[in-house]
Order: sequence, then C-alpha cells, then structure tokens
Amino acid sequence: MNPTRSDRRWRASASSAVLMAAALAALPAGAWERGLNAGSWTKGATLNGFVAPLPAAPPAGITQAILDAAVAEALKEWNDAQAPFGGLTLAGGATKATADIHISWGKALPEWGAVYKKDNVDKTHNGFTKETARVTIEINDGLDANGITRTLKHEIGHAEGLGHSAKSELMKSDAYSSTAGQAPTAADLNKPPPFIDPTADDKAGKKALWGTVEKLSKSAALSPPPVFNAGLGLWHYSWTLLADAGTGLVDPVTEFTLGLAAFRGASPVGVIQSAQAPTGWSVQWFPGVASAGLKALDEEPLSPAYLSFSANSASDGIAPGSSAEFGLFSSYGPGQVRAFTNSPSFDSDEFIVFAPVPEPGTLALWLAGLLGLGVGIRRARAAAGAALKPGG
Ligand SMILES: [Zn+2]
Repeated sequence: MNPTRSDRRWRASASSAVLMAAALAALPAGAWERGLNAGSWTKGATLNGFVAPLPAAPPAGITQAILDAAVAEALKEWNDAQAPFGGLTLAGGATKATADIHISWGKALPEWGAVYKKDNVDKTHNGFTKETARVTIEINDGLDANGITRTLKHEIGHAEGLGHSAKSELMKSDAYSSTAGQAPTAADLNKPPPFIDPTADDKAGKKALWGTVEKLSKSAALSPPPVFNAGLGLWHYSWTLLADAGTGLVDPVTEFTLGLAAFRGASPVGVIQSAQAPTGWSVQWFPGVASAGLKALDEEPLSPAYLSFSANSASDGIAPGSSAEFGLFSSYGPGQVRAFTNSPSFDSDEFIVFAPVPEPGTLALWLAGLLGLGVGIRRARAAAGAALKPGG
C-alpha cells in the first residue's frame, strides 16, 4: 500500500533514532571525493612547499612562529596518514624555483582558505618559475594559532588532491563547525586542540590517488535501471554486487555507497522509503552540507550526500566469489545516482547507474515533496535476496 503522509512522518521519527545510533559506530573507509588537484601530481612524488613569510603589519598576535608551527603540523599529519602505503610526500623548505605548493597568508579573503588548482596558477608569479598549487589562509579575520592550523590542515588535503567528503571529519565542507551543515566560524576554528587528524576516509582517498593500491578485493556490479512503480509512486532500485575472485583477491567488499548530489544538505526526507541490505550490514545517511550561510571554509565543490551501506565487520562483507543484494524503494529519480563500492584496500569500482530520465514535471513534484517530510530510511536486516516491503 501507498503509505500516507502521516505514516511517513511517524516512521521518520523512529528511523532517525536508528541513524543517530549508527552515527556513533566506527566507520570503514570509503566515499572520499576527488578534489580540484586530484590530477595535479605524479604517484610517488615529493611535493615541496614554499611558505610565504609573515606579512608586513601582521594581525595582532600572529607571529612567524605560529605560521611555521601550523605548516609543520599540517605536513606532519598528512605524511603520517600516508606512511603505511607510500605515495605523495610533503616537504617544507622549498624555494620559489623548486616549490610545488605555495602556502601564503591572505587578507580579506571571501573564505577561510583558498586552494588554487595547480594548472590554474600562472607558471611565473612573484618570482615562482613553475606551476604550483597555491593555498592561501585568511589571517586577518580573527583566526588564532589554532584556527590557522585547522584551516591549513584542511586546505593541504585539498592541495594534495582530496575533495570534500561528508564522511571525513577533516575534509567535509563544514569541518570544525559547531553547527552541522554550516561553515565554521572563527570561534569554531579557534577552539583548543585536540585537532582532527586525517581519517580512514582521507587515507583511503590518498592511497587511491597517489599510493600503491593493492588489489585485495574487487567488486563487479550489476546495476539494472530502476523500475518506476506507479502504484507506490516510487522507484525500485536493486543491485547485485559480486565480489570478484582471483589471484590475490582475498578480502571482502565491505561497503556500497550511493552518491546523491542533488540531495545535498537534505535529510533523507522521503527520499528513501525502505532499504534492503544483507544481514550484518547497516545503512547510514550523510547529508553533505546544506548551506554555508557564513564565510565558507573554501571554494572547493561541496560534497554530495551519501547513502552508505557498511558491513558491520569484515566477516559480514561480500567474500570473493560471492554476491549480495541491495535495494531501495525511493521517491528520488535515477538521474543523479552515483553508486560505488569500497574494499578494505580501497580498490574502488565506481559506476554510474544508467536509467530512464523522469519527466521534468514529475521530478519537480518529488523534489517539492522532499522539503516537508522527515527522515525516511528504514533499515532492513533481511537476508540477501529477501523481498522489499515498501511502507511496511
Ligand atoms: Zn575544503
């Protein structure tokens, strides 16, 4: 039966609690995003940083020692994060002639930090003789030593090639903010340590971009187009994920994520009417960020929203040679769904779901409907292949 609007609201409240509880659990790696500099570097390279000196007439309380310490902390954290697998190495002390990354100190920037894509920076500027990725940190608008360090750690992640990910505490576009979905304030950024370090999500991203990726597992996905159920007014998505078996493929696939750029910032709000996952898997919604509303952290594109299925443990994952079924009943249309799996070694198979494009008028009605409804994910722990029960 087609659930009534009040039914949906009731279920929304109940399932919100499930999502909140799930948010407390440790997360496996996955769903990192490529940033503006994802194609800027060569695997295994050492990136040399040139650090601009303290500007003339610096803001009160800002010293050369503070800037140097912030740079040292940011480079150390990122080098530590990739130490297990190799890849890019960050070094300081470059000259203008040898620099790959130019770290500078901004004034009256429209955001807390700016990252310029390497290819978009003039080869020669102010004495530099080759292209650099440029990172500029606002220091004239109230950031203290903590704020400068925090902003720089985030921006160095972008300089290395990571984009915003709603699953990364450090690289999400509302990182450090006291109000989820909004950009951080100076007070947020200046809060005392401990600092956020790169997470499993960031390490996986760096490993995939710049490290040696070991093919310990690999998935092959069958992704038929969703079928529109006119009676329910919902799309039925279903996926069969097959974990490839082969030489060296020994680890299970433990994550299946949908990227939903069009629903950034939303709660699932009726987007997901029911979700089917294998036994031992959980589902979690990451809204991305809705609206900066404040001085933005930087100008990199916002993360999409994610609906992420995760195995509760490796033994619940999809072992090589076996498959598992995933499904959704949803009011959202198929046009903006990006689906991908993540294995422990981050050998990611990313694929687009090709599907019929809904009528514009119908899509507009669905989108309008999203605004007034509550969270609507229903977690199912049915065994693989069990029937979906929308609205049940
Ligand atoms: Zn950013």
